[in-house]
Amino acid sequence: MKKENLLKQKNGEALLLAKSYKELKKRETKLSTQLLKTRTLLQQVCIHNETKIVNDYTPAGYLDREVYVTKVMCKTCGKELDRKEVTGGFG
Ligand SMILES: [Zn+2]
Repeated sequence: MKKENLLKQKNGEALLLAKSYKELKKRETKLSTQLLKTRTLLQQVCIHNETKIVNDYTPAGYLDREVYVTKVMCKTCGKELDRKEVTGGFG
């Protein structure tokens, strides 16, 4: 057996895993597209009648001020319906 074939055989398990990985990646891409399309459609048809408040905070850095974000999100479709940002001081 050629050295090249021997090396391939030695790495057989990795080659099989690489094959499965590539197939899964393909399915992932397909699913991502479907997810995006479904989410877009969902957010278009949703009447956003149930909402929740989500608070977010980004701490200040040397060059950035801290930011307090209050978002109104739809519970059904996850769309951000309103956003208020309050900027604080520097770190
Ligand atoms: Zn909605």
